Amino acid sequence: MKILAARMNHETNTFSPVPTALADFGPDGPTFGAQACAQARGGRTALGAFIAAAEARGEQITVALNATANPSGRVDDAAFERMAGSIVDAASGACDLILLDLHGAMVTQSFDDAEGELLRRLRAVAPRTPIAVALDLHGNITQTMVDCADAMVGFKTYPHIDMFETGAHVARLAFQMMDSHERPALAWVQLPLLSHTLRSATGEGAMQRAVQRARQLEGEGLYGASVFAGFSLADIRDAGVSVVVCGRDQQAAQAGADVLAQQIWVERADFVYRSEQLARSVARAKTLQAASADQRGPVLLLDHGDNVMSGGTCDTTTVLQECLRQGLQRIGAGPLADPQTVAQAIAAGVGGRLRVALGNKMPSGLEVPQQPPLALDVAVRAISDGRFCISGPIYCGETWAMGRSVALEHAAGMLVVTERPMEPLDLGVFTCVGVDPSGFDFLILKSRMYCRPSFVPIARALVECDSRGVTSSDYALFTFTRLRRPVYPLDPDAPFNPG
Ligand SMILES: [Zn+2]
Repeated sequence: MKILAARMNHETNTFSPVPTALADFGPDGPTFGAQACAQARGGRTALGAFIAAAEARGEQITVALNATANPSGRVDDAAFERMAGSIVDAASGACDLILLDLHGAMVTQSFDDAEGELLRRLRAVAPRTPIAVALDLHGNITQTMVDCADAMVGFKTYPHIDMFETGAHVARLAFQMMDSHERPALAWVQLPLLSHTLRSATGEGAMQRAVQRARQLEGEGLYGASVFAGFSLADIRDAGVSVVVCGRDQQAAQAGADVLAQQIWVERADFVYRSEQLARSVARAKTLQAASADQRGPVLLLDHGDNVMSGGTCDTTTVLQECLRQGLQRIGAGPLADPQTVAQAIAAGVGGRLRVALGNKMPSGLEVPQQPPLALDVAVRAISDGRFCISGPIYCGETWAMGRSVALEHAAGMLVVTERPMEPLDLGVFTCVGVDPSGFDFLILKSRMYCRPSFVPIARALVECDSRGVTSSDYALFTFTRLRRPVYPLDPDAPFNPG
């Protein structure tokens, strides 16, 4: 059997002013062919699982593409054409099975449904070849995607620590399809529901219960049951929550999807996040720290209004400024992307002292004016190339690159400033610049969820901080023009009748 596999991952925040070019799809851009296969082999991604599963069966597998970029604005058309083109070209040769590791929420300059467009092109060149797809739990699923795929399974964890397991699940379904010569049935139910990313963690609340129900349905014989929280910071028709069920026949798959959708709809209010005022969150962090002086590790302040893994600019200083205003001390923060400040610090050299105009240089992305940079007197403590190998559970073993990076000490703590936006998904974002993140009283991270598996174990407490960034949980800051309406909670009385 000749298997073609590929990974093309991007979660697009259509409000984000951060551009997305081909070079962003990997530490040194995307990789293709044998290089992509070598890079992905042994990794904990869905593509890594495809390769492991194929090789365990002694099948021949070729990898067209390995590409993943941090969430950011719409993907350049040229980047999409190069990446999708590499997969479609490979599929138009002889291949018996196509395995794809996609996100599900990629939007390009020309296509609101980039995964649907890729799958449509693949169906056109390889109409009889089975296509099985692994997706992110935040995928915005569309009719085209469902119509053009034979099997589909999404992650069941957020933070996403089951990418490999999801890939293995998809490979298992695909091999079952090949061995039995039977195509499974897919059922998709889209809810009129825009969830908040902070309410899509699978360890609590309605999302946890939905995923438990999905697992139960799989235990009862359905091939795959996936709950997609969707990615709501995308002004496209199909943003939001849906479920996809893969089963032996259409009736069983549809019944499972209806049950799952009904349960989610009943609990829809639990998918809405209500923000606390920033000043109150910072004051709470201060109290938590003071009340636990006998404990070690920082209080984490998660700046989810500028969350890199949702398309944040990674350059806003709102939370740091509020901490300084309230007199917090021993504050660690980072990464903050500001190439100008990095260049100045490198020119000053280690030990150099300078006044920097920090952050707030990208357009805000919102219909509110950007605030001015933060003036800060700093001393340069370290300079690094910003590359680190991930040791935490998400993307374990991969090398990520923040661009040139510096550690800057100021009167109230230490900052890691980088050339490129970077989610603090691993302690390596600090340690590669010689900073120990566990040594602070407070640690500001531009993250919602990805930081948690690595940073919660070294922290004494966690406080969510909503700043006025392009990944804010306050939907009133955004103007949706393409989203299907009515949709809850923007339209509180949106109707839904599954089944
Ligand atoms: Zn996700």
